[in-house]
Amino acid sequence: MVENNELRKAGLKVTLPRVKILQMLDNSEHRHMSAEDVYKALMEAGEDVGLATVYRVLTQFEAAGLVVRHNFDGGHAVFELTDGGHHDHMVCVDTGEVIEFMDAEIERRQKEIVREHGFELVDHNLVLYVRKKM
Ligand SMILES: [Zn+2]
Repeated sequence: MVENNELRKAGLKVTLPRVKILQMLDNSEHRHMSAEDVYKALMEAGEDVGLATVYRVLTQFEAAGLVVRHNFDGGHAVFELTDGGHHDHMVCVDTGEVIEFMDAEIERRQKEIVREHGFELVDHNLVLYVRKKM
């Protein structure tokens, strides 16, 4: 199974909860899920994995570099698989929905601004807090 290989490559032993949670992240239509989201989705799929286990496994995944954790303002931490490549996020302040975007112009300007300050860009994390237009 794909998930077993992914776990081994990340240096993690293959256990049932780890496989189930990784499968959930791989197959979900939502790329950004809180521990509660994962827990609920597993329950709905009839999988018996406790919330404490979900937290622990997600933290292990994070340490192993399989997922990144985002601590967006005003919500639970959400996790996403690290296979997506660089992108930035918008978070809806009403629903908590997370939208991904990538803008070459913004990327370029950020590097320029950093350079103007005498630095080079190591990493960045841009989050726009948004609301649906009425
Ligand atoms: Zn993302």
